[in-house]
Formats: sequence, structure tokens, C-alpha cells
Amino acid sequence: MQNLLHNLNPEQLAAVTLPSQSALILAGAGSGKTRVLTTRIAWLIQTGQVSPAGIMAVTFTNKAAKEMLTRLSSMLPINTRGMWIGTFHGLCNRLLRTHYKDAALPQAFQILDSQDQLSLIKRMLKAHNVDDEKYPAKALMYFINNAKEQGLRANRLEPNDPIERRMIELYELYEGQCQREGVVDFAELLLRSYELLARNGPLRHHYQMRFRHILVDEFQDTNDLQYNLLKLLAGHDEEGGGAIFAVGDDDQSIYAFRGANVGNMQAFEREFRVKNLIKLEQNYRSYGHILDSANYLIANNTKRLGKNLRTDAGQGEQVRVYEASSDLEEAQWIIEEAKSLTNEGVPRSEIAILYRSNAQSRVIEHALFAAGLPYTVYGGLRYFQRAEVKHAIAYLQLMDNPHNDSAFLRVVNFPTRGIGARSIEQLQMAADSYGISLYAAVPYMTGKAGSSLGNFVKLVESARFETQQLPLPELVRVVLERSGLLLHYQNEKEGADRIENLEQMVNAATQFVQEEGFGQGAPAHLGPPALPQAGEAIVNQDGIEILDADAPLANVMSPLSAFLTHASLEAGDAQAQAGQDALQLMTVHSAKGLEFDAVFITGLEEGLFPHESSARELDGVDEERRLMYVAITRARKRLYMSFTQQRMLHGQTRFNMKSRFFDELPEESLKWLSPRVQTNWFAGRKQTTAWDDAAFRDGSDNKIAQQITQKSGNGSGWRVGETVAHAKFGEGVIVNIEGGAGAARAQINFGSAGMKVLDLSIAKLERV
Ligand code: ATP
Ligand code: MG
Repeated sequence: MQNLLHNLNPEQLAAVTLPSQSALILAGAGSGKTRVLTTRIAWLIQTGQVSPAGIMAVTFTNKAAKEMLTRLSSMLPINTRGMWIGTFHGLCNRLLRTHYKDAALPQAFQILDSQDQLSLIKRMLKAHNVDDEKYPAKALMYFINNAKEQGLRANRLEPNDPIERRMIELYELYEGQCQREGVVDFAELLLRSYELLARNGPLRHHYQMRFRHILVDEFQDTNDLQYNLLKLLAGHDEEGGGAIFAVGDDDQSIYAFRGANVGNMQAFEREFRVKNLIKLEQNYRSYGHILDSANYLIANNTKRLGKNLRTDAGQGEQVRVYEASSDLEEAQWIIEEAKSLTNEGVPRSEIAILYRSNAQSRVIEHALFAAGLPYTVYGGLRYFQRAEVKHAIAYLQLMDNPHNDSAFLRVVNFPTRGIGARSIEQLQMAADSYGISLYAAVPYMTGKAGSSLGNFVKLVESARFETQQLPLPELVRVVLERSGLLLHYQNEKEGADRIENLEQMVNAATQFVQEEGFGQGAPAHLGPPALPQAGEAIVNQDGIEILDADAPLANVMSPLSAFLTHASLEAGDAQAQAGQDALQLMTVHSAKGLEFDAVFITGLEEGLFPHESSARELDGVDEERRLMYVAITRARKRLYMSFTQQRMLHGQTRFNMKSRFFDELPEESLKWLSPRVQTNWFAGRKQTTAWDDAAFRDGSDNKIAQQITQKSGNGSGWRVGETVAHAKFGEGVIVNIEGGAGAARAQINFGSAGMKVLDLSIAKLERV
């Protein structure tokens, strides 16, 4: 047995070996929080204080859960399969699968991702003739999720005005619709679990007695519902509850927009009467310049619990800062730097390219693709969200639960089989009037619509019948054929990629069956084997047996149900690009908890990072700063930052100033790579002398000269050549004006303050 405790510093050792009471480990990035949490699990098991079944550990992503399980298996000779380590959603799913009856769910309930949820809401609004200008689907979705995250059902909400009254009614209708279809959204997974435990005393008591140790990573980003669920599970208000070991960093709280409440840390300390509060301040991840940057930056936030980071690793290299002329040029620069990193021997998977918004990835991806550099995108359009894959999944969903209306509508006429919008409308009306699913309403349809819909139902039924004895991967293959999807894409001009993606699904199914411990040939459809298997039987006060959710998923779900769950819960994880050493692209949000040798933080411009939406929110810029802190602290050895003078975003060219965060970093830790050459936007030419008359007289620059003279009568009220004054930049000369009245931008040479591009409708300029 190896010694788990060497390689820990004294504070870490103290944290790992705390007595069985609730504890809070509050520590900065890279100080070993996750490592301490994992080691504590191993230590508790190794010293016999708890069995693997007595542990529950909550991670922020599925990837983190997998990593934790792998680390545990390497530390201990135990079978980690069946251990309760996962995300809140994953763990709740497991609970609900086992106790579906008590939770009033159908056994094969399916999970709606946010895309499905939105389309269900849209459909519902239409069916009830709701004015979608007044009640936009997105707003309603936000309203519903928000209510659920506060633990509130429709009947517990009090309307303040007629609009809210209607929203609450729609919330109720939505719940009815979900229940009829046998589907649950993400927030519902949590709320249903909470209610199940809150209402069912024996069940709650059972799990309270079972989970003696609950460990939570990234505690600063729990929302109120998650916190309350933890309180229930730990038996906070009851005799003999378990202990919660929470680790977190208030400076990395970055999910307030999704209801996360950093106040939960203080609430936890108070409500659980935490005696053990440990701070870790030694950073093991990054070199000095990187860490100094992080410390300087975050010191600009005022509301902090207070801690600092130090390292013994030495200063390392300075942070390299690059000012690009455009987003295209920024991407080129990234590629050049990434190439030289790989030449230096850094594996591609150790290079991360981070951006604030998903929309920024397009240009970078395009450039990487053109340069032939392999890359993986986290949290972008994930494999299971691609259109063709969603179609195939919809067929599988119908075979598992035909009452899933979203799945039904997605494929009832895809590939086309002559079922028109009118028929669907009639079907929808029949379903609404009987209060049943679309699938169940098909027999009520007559005429041509009735027969074509009937054929669709027959297709699904016969596919189910034929595949009854087949293992999952083969079932998937049959469904791809029988549905007509493969044929459809074969006939499509650019269908080759899509076919490849569909065929990937057979591999995904094979891998899934292996990883989850389903027998190789286990029929995909068969319901779960008789329970309980690995789990203990619990008997409640009335002598009725309750099943325990101890067993691996294989014991509570059919392979098909489990696979569909996997497809919906996989959110946020990398898209499949198996086995390739690829650059890692992701938003800063999805980089939380990860670390890389080299990190690029791109698009550091005002309006982008900090994001413009932050200006409207209370605490908005502070949250952006925490996000920047997360970004900086991902880097081990080398950190790059870049910003550009102009970029295309959402179809518009934007001219942003460099991020205010640069002013908050220690100058001595930064190395400005480019001479701060100002660029003219004409044809992407780099030139320092665009405003030099001589350049314009030169024949080759005739075009530019022409453009400039033409622009003089541009309707903006300003003239090229005019001298202006700006409050911040001082006096300058207008070098060029682009765009017409109302949307004009001027390039202005402010001398020592540099060349700037300003939006004339916003910039406050004065004539001199
Ligand atoms: P974050 O806040 O980003 O989630 P964290 O506090 O969870 O960071 P870890 O990811 O656990 O930090 O650790 C950061 C790095 O430091 C890891 O590579 C980890 O293996 C290493 N590390 C942690 N503690 C030690 C130690 N005592 N000796 C050597 N390396 C360590
Ligand atoms: Mg961590």
C-alpha cells in the first residue's frame, strides 16, 4: 500500500486528515484543493473510516469526475465503479433512476438539454396561442429554471403583476407537458431529487446513514438548490448526519449568472458550525510572473475572503502580450506561437486557447483548420448536439420512450415521408384534447394523415421489435439504417461528414457499454435486472423494501436508457476526437479546475473581456475579473495574452480598446511582443505612415488616397484632416472616416497617444 500522505505540505496534510466533521478548505487557484479532496477520499477508505459506498463526491464536470476516479484507482486497490462520484446532475440522475416510482417518473424518463427545453417551450406557447412577443420562449425558460433553482414550484410563486401571473400559469403548463412526455430538464433533475428526499423520510434517512462523507469541489459555484440538497443529504437538521468537506475559492466564483451563490460558503461555515477552516496558500501550478499577475489583478476586487498565493517555483518567464491588428491576425499569431511551442516539445494537449465568448472561436478554428493543426473544442457544438446526431438520438429516444414529443416532432418527417405541417397540427390538437402524447394520438387520426402517421409509428414499433435481442451498438446501427438517415445523407451533397458522425455513434455505443460495465452482448432494451443486486435492501417503517442506488448504473437502467442519459448529460465535455494530440480550445468558464503548460488568453478588449454585459450587472466587472483570474491561473509555465484593434463579431466589425485588465497587471511581469505598431485597416496592410502625405502620393497608394478623399463627403459631419480633441487622448487628426451617417467610425492619429479608431456616434470629440 503506498503512502498517500507524502507529497503533501503541512496544511494540505492537516486538511486531508481532519476528523470526521464538516470542514471548509478555502484556497486560491492551484493550491491543491482538488488534490486534497481526492487524497482525503483515499485516506478515509484506506484507514477504514468509511467504505467506498459511504462516500459521495461532487465535481463540477463529468471530466473532473472521471479524472478523480482514475486517480483513486491508482491510489487504492479498489473497484471504483459504482462509487458516487459525479456532477450534481449525474448523481441526481442516478438517484431518480433507482427511485423513479417514488419520484413519480416513468422508468425510461429522458433528459432534456437546454436546446430541447427551449423547443418544447416554443411548441407549448404555440399550442396555447401565447403571444411570443409578450412572452418570449427564452424569457420563460429563464423564469422556469430560475424558479426551480430556488426550489419553487409554480404553486409556490406569488405573482406581482399580470405578466408574472401568466408566466406562472405557463410554468405550470410546462410541468404538465414534461410529465406527459416523460422528460425532465436539468434543473428538474435536482429539484425532483430534493423533493424526493425531503418528502420520503425513510429514504432520506437511509442515504443520510449511508453517506458519512460528502465531499464537494468548487463549492463557491453551488447554487441554492444544490446547497439545500447537500444539507438534506448530510442530515444537517437531523441526528447523526454525515460530514461535508467543502473546498472552494471565492475568487473563482464565476457562475453567478446561473444562480451560483458564493454566499453559500459563509452560510455553510455558519450553519454547519464549521470548526475546521483551512487555508492553503502555496501554489504548485504556476511560475512567479503568472502568479504575480493573478494576485495583482484580483487585488482590485474588494469583496474577498482574503488570501494570497505564493510559489517556490521561481519567477519563470514573463507573460507575453501581443497586440494584433485584427482577429485574423491574432489567430495567425496564435498559430505561429503554438507551432513554436510544439517545436520546443510541448504536447499540443498542453496548450490551451481561451476566449470569453464562444463566438470568438470561429476565426481561431478556421485558421487552425487551414494550418492543419489538430484541435479540440470544449463546450462548443458538442458531438451529441449536432443536427444529424440529434436526429439519430431522437429515433433512439422514441424506441425507449415513444411519448417524448420533442423526439417525435424532430423525426416524424425527417427524412421526409410526406407528413405535412397540417397533419402535425391536427395531431397536436388531438393530443392536446385527450391530454396524451403525439405518439399516443396517432390512432385518432384518419385519412391520408392518419395512414402516413400510422406508417411512422409502425416503423418505430417494428424497429423496436427487430432489435429486441440486440446489444446497443448493433441496435444503433439498425436504427441508422431503418430510419433512413444514412440514405438521406448519402444523397446529400456534403453529407459525408454527417455520415461519419453518425457512424461514430456506433463506436460511441461500443465504448459506452464497455466503460459502464454492461455485459458485451447485453440486449440494449432489456429493463434492468431484478434489484437489488450490489445494493443492500432497506426496509422502511412499514416493512416495505426500498431499493438502494448503490449499484452501478448497469443495474438500474437498460443500456439504451443509460446511453441516452449519457448523451444529454455529457454537456461541457470535449467533443470526441479520440486519440489525437490536439490543441485545447475553450471558454474561460469551461477551463475552471484545469491546468496546462501554456495558455493563451485571447480577445482581451473592452466589451469582450470584460464583457459588455458586465457593465449592466451589479458586481459585473468584479465577476469578469474573477473570470480573468481563473484564466491566468490555468497556466503552468507560459502565459500569452492578446487583443486586437478590430474584430468581426456577430456580423459586425468592432473597434475596441484594450482591456482595462492590462492596467491591473504588474508591468514588470509583462513582455509586450509587438512594437505597438498602429495599423490601418485598408486591406489589412500594416503601415506606420498611412497619415503621411507622401505615402498617398505614391502611385501604389492611389486607391487609398482616393478612398480618403471620397470619404470627406461622408455625411458624418466630420472631415478627414480635421483636428479634434478627445477627453482622454488629447488632440488628434482624423486620418480616415468609414461608414455613413449614424454609423461612422474615424481613424484618428492622437500623436503620442497613438492611432485610435473611434465610433463617431459615441466618442465625444470636439473641433479644435
Ligand atoms: P483550482 O483552484 O484551479 O481548481 P486546485 O486548488 O484544485 O486548483 P490542484 O489542481 O489540486 O489545485 O493542484 C494544482 C497542481 O499542483 C496539480 O498539478 C497538483 O498535482 C499539484 N500539487 C498540489 N499539491 C502539491 C504538492 N504538495 N506537491 C506537488 N504538487 C502538488
Ligand atoms: Mg481544483
